[in-house]
Amino acid sequence: MTNQIDLFAASETSEAIPEDFDIDAIPTSASVPIPPGIYENLETLATHCNGCQRCDLAAGRTNVVVSRGNPKAHIMIVGEGPGQQEDEQGLPFVGRSGQLLEKILAAVRLDTEQDVYICNVVKCRPPNNRTPSAEETAACKGYLLEQIRLVNPKIILLTGATAMKGLTGEKRGITKIRGQWIEWEDRWCMPIFHPAYLLRNPSREKGSPKWLMWQDIQAVKARLDEIVSQSQ
Ligand code: SF4
Repeated sequence: MTNQIDLFAASETSEAIPEDFDIDAIPTSASVPIPPGIYENLETLATHCNGCQRCDLAAGRTNVVVSRGNPKAHIMIVGEGPGQQEDEQGLPFVGRSGQLLEKILAAVRLDTEQDVYICNVVKCRPPNNRTPSAEETAACKGYLLEQIRLVNPKIILLTGATAMKGLTGEKRGITKIRGQWIEWEDRWCMPIFHPAYLLRNPSREKGSPKWLMWQDIQAVKARLDEIVSQSQ
């Protein structure tokens, strides 16, 4: 792989799951680890998320927001956390940001239900849409890592700095790192602007966030086409 930044040298590695590990304890407390490889399928994972009390965000949620889209998609899109409409509907990226995301994907002939799997770093809405805390992110991260393992996407798009930091620990600003390919566990990852940021910056002039997003999504589509053609 070329043009890459290896941020993941110390990423989580699989360890054997103790025989007496109580999987049903996972949703009860953040002190219980979520061992890599623990979930056999996304349905069991979603059941755990829906009853989860691992962090304080459980208290304020209407619905847990686990995912939408195609669990067999080559592309996974990871956002920060649910907003108000996502919390009400129990689905990620369904508000104005979601509509813009759909338009961006459609511009390169990608469909949000068929071609991508969408989820968030935290599955419950932070109060007043604040950024999730480090503790909340850590409590929820095992679910995200298991979603990645089970969906097995070739490409992961990290929307915004919080998604980037939540998955990778990368602290640089999104404007510095967006559009760069990162290698992680044989997957291609790219940080991109969050659609909400594009809604606040509507200019389409060359060099603007929307213009940069257009460059990025074309690069993503080109990479996807390359991956698909290599697998045929
Ligand atoms: S945000 Fe994640 S860890 Fe916290 S309660 Fe919701 S599902 Fe559980």
